[in-house]
Amino acid sequence: MPVYEYVCRECGKEFEQIETLSEHDRTTVSCPDCKGKKIERRWSPVFTVTSKKS
Ligand SMILES: [Zn+2]
Repeated sequence: MPVYEYVCRECGKEFEQIETLSEHDRTTVSCPDCKGKKIERRWSPVFTVTSKKS
């Protein structure tokens, strides 16, 4: 199952959540610390590589 990384924009807490894809579609993520709903997904560095050789 994929692990999603999130950061709370209210308190800065970083956390991970394991979700299936179907869960991810319908789950509202909230901060485990402050229960805030301003959650931003952090992408794994793997996905930030933009260099292409064509
Ligand atoms: Zn928080």
